[in-house]
Amino acid sequence: LSSVREPLFAAYSTGHAIELKEALADPKRYKVVQCAPVIRVSLAEEFGLPFGTLTPGKMAAALRLLNFDRVYDTNFGADVTIMEEGSELISRVMSGERLPMFTSCCPAWVKHAETAAPHVLDHLSSCKSPMQMVGSLVKTYSAELDGIAPADILSVAVMPCTCKKFEAGREEMNVDGLREVDMVITTRELAQLIKDKGIDFINLPDETFDSPLGKYSGAGTIFGATGGVMEAAIRTGYELVTHEPIPNLQLDFIRGDEGIRTATVQIGDLELKVAMVAGLKYVSTILEQVAKGTCPYHFIEVMACPEGCVSGGGQPKLLLETQRKSAYQARKSSIYRHDSNQKVRKSHENPAIIKLYKDFLGEPLGHASHHLLHTKFFSRSVKGEMK
Ligand code: SF4
Repeated sequence: LSSVREPLFAAYSTGHAIELKEALADPKRYKVVQCAPVIRVSLAEEFGLPFGTLTPGKMAAALRLLNFDRVYDTNFGADVTIMEEGSELISRVMSGERLPMFTSCCPAWVKHAETAAPHVLDHLSSCKSPMQMVGSLVKTYSAELDGIAPADILSVAVMPCTCKKFEAGREEMNVDGLREVDMVITTRELAQLIKDKGIDFINLPDETFDSPLGKYSGAGTIFGATGGVMEAAIRTGYELVTHEPIPNLQLDFIRGDEGIRTATVQIGDLELKVAMVAGLKYVSTILEQVAKGTCPYHFIEVMACPEGCVSGGGQPKLLLETQRKSAYQARKSSIYRHDSNQKVRKSHENPAIIKLYKDFLGEPLGHASHHLLHTKFFSRSVKGEMK
């Protein structure tokens, strides 16, 4: 790999990682970590491996060597998101209320809506992001299974951007008075922790994620690519509405690089009109359409980064435009390959998700889900900005 990288002296510049180093040495804390879908396709680049090298097994092994007691996966939270958000979309389409529905898993997009376009806040899905859903379940469901007091748990997330640090700190992201996610570190910060501990990442034998919050479907993993949330939602929504298997799992018409892509999906009698937006500059036309009541779509995925989370600001840094393009492409290809290699590729067929609803949550959009997995968004608009 020939790449020009920024020096790693800035690796701990965004807080939490130094604090985390100390917390990991504290035997009194029960340390639980989750990793976003895209970390497994980019972390290896920090150790000189080619762009997009897929290393979920080495990442799990490294996290255990860093002293985490439970190694969980944000992909599980992505599967939960599909159960909740898919059900929410079906309910809104049936009632015709608050359409279009926007995704709410990218905190930079949510913050943009709160500050620059509060007129669409009612249109956002009320779902917390997959990271916050896992954090909430770590301090309830998983704590109960492990017999650990929620207050003794340190909940850590490895994420592709620093916006996730802001999201974890939002006042409303708490469960029964406790933070759902106590600390967020980026891909680069995780790489630095691994290097500081002298772990030979490249030669680590593969390990698996822990149960139950480490089991995921292919649909959960594609959240890392722009259009992934939409594709995962359609895989499940199609089957929930028609009660028939979706004819094709690979929805090529959803995939692509353009900043805005649109499609019409036939689901039973319904013609579902969808849009995928990658990069906030492309969302303004849609926001204006919503304000005028002329928006033609039912469901809109918005990711603030131009290529989705593969290009998040906490990912391995590449200075040359050509290298960035190659890296983003390679990371996306790995995500889709990882999806196609999974035995289970639909969120609602993930056995760990079925068990979560059977044993703990009850049903999507039920009482427990609303308490643990949904939130409200508030206007942060200031005078002079679009109302
Ligand atoms: Fe973070 Fe960018 Fe992904 Fe949004 S799209 S969650 S800002 S990495």
